[in-house]
Parts: sequence; C-alpha cells; structure tokens
Amino acid sequence: RPRAETATVVLAPGDGIGPEITLATCQILEAAGAAVRFEPIEVGEACYRQGVSSGIPEDAWSAIRQRRVLLKGPITTPQGGGYKSLNVTLRKSLGLFANVRPCRSWHPVLPSRHPEMDLVVVRENEEDTYAGIEHRQTAEVTQCLKLISRPASERIVRYAFELARAQGRPKVTCMTKDNIMKVTDGLFHRVFDEIAGDYPEIAADHRIIDIGTALLADRPEQFDVVVTPNLYGDIISDVAAQITGSVGLGGSANIGDGFAMFEAVHGSAPDIAGQDIANPSGMLLAACEMLRYLDDGATADRIECAWMRTLEEGAHTADIFRAGHSRERLGTRSFAERVCRNLDTAP
Ligand code: NAD
Repeated sequence: RPRAETATVVLAPGDGIGPEITLATCQILEAAGAAVRFEPIEVGEACYRQGVSSGIPEDAWSAIRQRRVLLKGPITTPQGGGYKSLNVTLRKSLGLFANVRPCRSWHPVLPSRHPEMDLVVVRENEEDTYAGIEHRQTAEVTQCLKLISRPASERIVRYAFELARAQGRPKVTCMTKDNIMKVTDGLFHRVFDEIAGDYPEIAADHRIIDIGTALLADRPEQFDVVVTPNLYGDIISDVAAQITGSVGLGGSANIGDGFAMFEAVHGSAPDIAGQDIANPSGMLLAACEMLRYLDDGATADRIECAWMRTLEEGAHTADIFRAGHSRERLGTRSFAERVCRNLDTAP
C-alpha cells in the first residue's frame, strides 16, 4: 500500500456524467487541501472510437501501473454486443479482487424508512459469469460459463470477515444460489462456512440470493457485511444504494494487492449527461475512501463533514430532492461549490 505525503493518483473522468462528477469531486478535494495530485488519463468511449479495442491506451496502462491508485468515473459499455467492459478488464488485469460497497442510511438528513441501515457489500470482483467465458454454440444457442474457484472464494470471504473484524461489525451474511448451482455456488458457500470458523466472535449466516435480496430491500437494517459472488453483489449493491436514497449516493473501492481503484457504484447515466444535474456524492464518497487508503483520513473526514452539512442545509441534487424536506435544488457544479464553502466550517 502506497504511503504518501502527496500521492499522485491516476484520474479517469469516464463517460456520460463521469466528467461532471469527477470535476466536482476534484474541486472539493483540492479545496480541502487533500494530499493528492492527479495524473489525468483518457479511457473509454473516445478511445474505442479511436480504435483502441480495450478502451485503455498504452499510455493509460503505464500511468496506472506506475501510480497504482486510480479514481475513475463511470464508463459506458454497450449492451448485448460491441466492445468488452473496460471495468471488467481493469478489475481483472489489476487483480482487484474485492469490490467493497458501503451503503448506509443518512437519516434524518435524508429521511429514510430504514434509519438503522448500515451495511457493506463485499463482492468478489474477478470470477463468476464476469469471467467472460461466453460463446455461441449454434445460431440459436448461446452459453456463458460461471467460474468459481476455491482460492478466489477463500480470499474474498476472508476479506469480508477481516473487514467485519476491523470495523467492529458483528455479522457476515453470505448470499448464493447453491440450491440450484450446487457445484459453483455450493463451493462458495462451503468455503464461507469453513472460514467463518476462524472468526468465532462474528456471527455468520447464509441466505439464498433471491430471498436475501427481498429481505435486504424490506429490512436492510438486519444486514451488516454481505459477501457474494460477482453478479449477485453487483445487483444487491445497486439495490442497497437506491434504498439509501439514490444510486447517486453510493461509492465503492476495488481493492487488490498493491493496486486500488475507486469509483461510484452507478453507471454513466447517459440520460442525464451534460445537464449539470448529476449527483456527485457517490464519486465524492469513493474519493474519500481513496484518501483513507492513502492515509489521509483526516481530510476525508473533513470533506464528509462538509458534505453532510450541505445535505443538512437541504441543498440537494435532483435525485434526492424531496418536496417538503429539501430546500434548494442544486446542480452538480453548485452542489460542489456549496460543499467547498462548507469546508470552512468543518472541523
Ligand atoms: P446508471 O447507473 O448509469 O443509471 C441508472 C439511473 O440512475 C438513470 O436514470 C440515471 O440517470 C440515474 N443515476 C445514475 N447515477 C446518477 C447520479 N450520480 N445522479 C443522479 N442520477 C443518477 O445505469 P444504466 O443506465 O443501466 O447504465 C448506463 C451505462 O453505465 C451503461 O453503459 C453501463 O454499462 C454503464 N455502467 C458503468 C459502470 C462503471 O463504470 N462502474 C457501472 C454500472 C453501469
């Protein structure tokens, strides 16, 4: 893990709303005097158009390999065809095995039906149906292979228990569909049961993913750390982020050995791109996690405090604006300016 006085991190603004929320985030980090310098790279749509098949040009790769920490905006990936997901390429090439997505209620600042909700989704990040083993058998038959290995399962499950221990969280829940996928999900569940034995002070339970997701949507406060294979974790973390008020509030950390990538939970939101209405909070909270990773937790705390104050003032972006509760509807830029102003009064 890099320790830095002033760390240089690679910055990829991304596609769609990416450049807007990235600019807002960088302005806030700069105003807070965060100990980071950004080295910008271009990846994603523009690079594909220039014929770079991975979407990541060679100079971007070398910057990432040299700096080892990446703050990344969301990237547009075509559905049902076209180029391969750049996000998956980055996660696999850099060995970012753990995708950590904290989701908590901000009640009463943002009123919630689940004020006690405070969970972390720990998603395996390299295997499962995301391994990209997909092919057409005949013109009418297609196949995708689900890859679950013991080493990757052990690593992510242990990571989830260590995170629970470090954060003083009393329970880890595993979610799989091992009643149907008895071999693949069965292995993940079995590994979970084995490793749980090494953490007797932490409660361990298992839910089948379908009822687990239903319970999470209905009573999220019952969950603490949730560990899953790749696909289920992707889905339930969006569900959990939306329950906190908006997918625009979710930040995430992709952690590997010596490499880390921080990004919002949500995608590039092409439907609202370029309109100065996107919520930069998910990206900002991801950047705060990056500062903590770089041992600049004090600045991260100050930024989160100014961000909370902004929400407390009722200054909300459109996605979390609620008539009768919110006071001002702010755009991306003015929201960032307000957070910067509130840094003056943050401890
Ligand atoms: P999305 O998360 O981009 O958008 C879903 C809905 O949430 C949209 O209505 C959008 O306007 C809204 N939304 C998302 N972020 C918001 C924000 N910060 N503020 C306010 N509203 C916000 O999901 P999608 O539309 O399914 O995907 C769009 C593209 O993003 C796709 O190409 C997908 O592959 C890509 N994607 C990328 C990542 C990533 O880079 N990590 C993650 C998910 C999806």
